[in-house]
Amino acid sequence: MTSIATLGSHCALQLLKGAKDEGFKTLLICEKKRQKLYERFKFIDELVLVDAFSEVIDERCDSILQKNNSILIPHGTLIAQMSSEQIESIKTPIFGNKNILRWESDRNLKQKLMDEANLPTPKSVSSPSAINGLVIAKRHGAAGGKGYFLASSEDEYNKKRDQLIKEGMIKGDSDLYLQEYTSGVLAYLQFFYSPLKKELEFFGVDKRHESNIEGLARIPAENQLKMEKFTSFNVIANSPLVLRESLLDEVYTMGENFVNASEKHVPPGMNGPFCIEGVYDENAQFSAFEFSARIVAGTNIFMNGSPYTTLIFDEPISMGRRIAKEIKEAELNNQLKDVTT
Ligand code: ATP
Repeated sequence: MTSIATLGSHCALQLLKGAKDEGFKTLLICEKKRQKLYERFKFIDELVLVDAFSEVIDERCDSILQKNNSILIPHGTLIAQMSSEQIESIKTPIFGNKNILRWESDRNLKQKLMDEANLPTPKSVSSPSAINGLVIAKRHGAAGGKGYFLASSEDEYNKKRDQLIKEGMIKGDSDLYLQEYTSGVLAYLQFFYSPLKKELEFFGVDKRHESNIEGLARIPAENQLKMEKFTSFNVIANSPLVLRESLLDEVYTMGENFVNASEKHVPPGMNGPFCIEGVYDENAQFSAFEFSARIVAGTNIFMNGSPYTTLIFDEPISMGRRIAKEIKEAELNNQLKDVTT
C-alpha cells in the first residue's frame, strides 16, 4: 500500500490531512527544531527526523521512504532549499512532474514556458542601464519575495543592490532579475490538472500579504520619503479572493494553454497542482509575472474547499485531498506511473 510523504513546512499540514482523509499512511520529513509543532497533529503517522531537508536524498531517508512505498509531494520548501540537480536525483517517486520544477527555478526557462503558453507577461529589463520606468528586482528561485526591491533608475538600483550584497543576500547583478513593475490587483490562480481524467480544475484564487510593501501603503507619503528602509515582498499570509465571473473563461484558457505548452516542452507535462501568478490592470487585463509548477501555500486557505471547488465536487475538498484522490485512483487502476516521475 502506498503512503504519502512531504517535507515539514509550507503546506505539509494540508497535504497530510488530505492524505489521511483518503486513507493513506502519512510520513513527514521533519527538521528536529519543528518536531514539537508537528507532533500535535494526529493525522501524521510517522516523523522522519532530520537536521536539514537536504537529507531527503540521503540513504537513510531514502530507505525509510522506500520501505513505506512513499510518494513524495513537492512544495515550495523543496524548491527553495534544494537545487534542481538534487531534486532530480531523489529516488522516491515524486507526485507530478519533477522535471518542470527546474523550469520554475530558472528565470529564463520560466519566461520561455510562459511565452510558449501565450501568457501575457510584464517585460523583462535586460540590464540595470536599460531601466526606464519602475522595475522590480527579484532574486532567482523561490525566494518568497524576500529582498525584492523597486527602482526607477540605475542609480537607485545600484544603491539597493549594494545594500543586499552587504546583507549577504546576493553576490551581484547576476543574482537579480529585472522586470517592469505592473500595478493593479494581484491574483494567484490555483489549478489542478488531472493526468488521469485529462481535465483542468480551477481550484481557487488568493492574494498574498507581503511585508513590508503592504505596510508602506499605510504610511503617508511625507513620512515614507523620510524612511531609510527598503521595500521587500516577504510573504507573510494569504487571503481568499473571488473573481468577477466574466473573468473565469480567460482563467480556464490560460490554465489550459499552460498545460498544453508544458506537455509539449517538459514531458510528461503539468500534472497535478500549479499556480499562475499575476496582476489585473485597470482594463481587467491579466499579466502573469510568475508560475509555480506545484502546490502553492495559498491553497492552505481552502482546507475545506473554495467557492470554485464547491462547483466541481459534492464534498469539501482541499488541494491536498485532491492530490490524494488522484494517487488513490491511479493506484486502483495500476497507473501510479502516470501521476509520478
Ligand atoms: P514565489 O516562488 O514565492 O511565488 P518568487 O520568488 O518567485 O515567489 P514572484 O512571485 O515573482 O517571486 O514575486 C514576489 C512578489 O513580488 C509577488 O507576489 C508580487 O507582489 C511582486 N511582483 C513580482 N513581479 C511583479 C511585477 N512584475 N509587477 C508587480 N509586482 C510584482
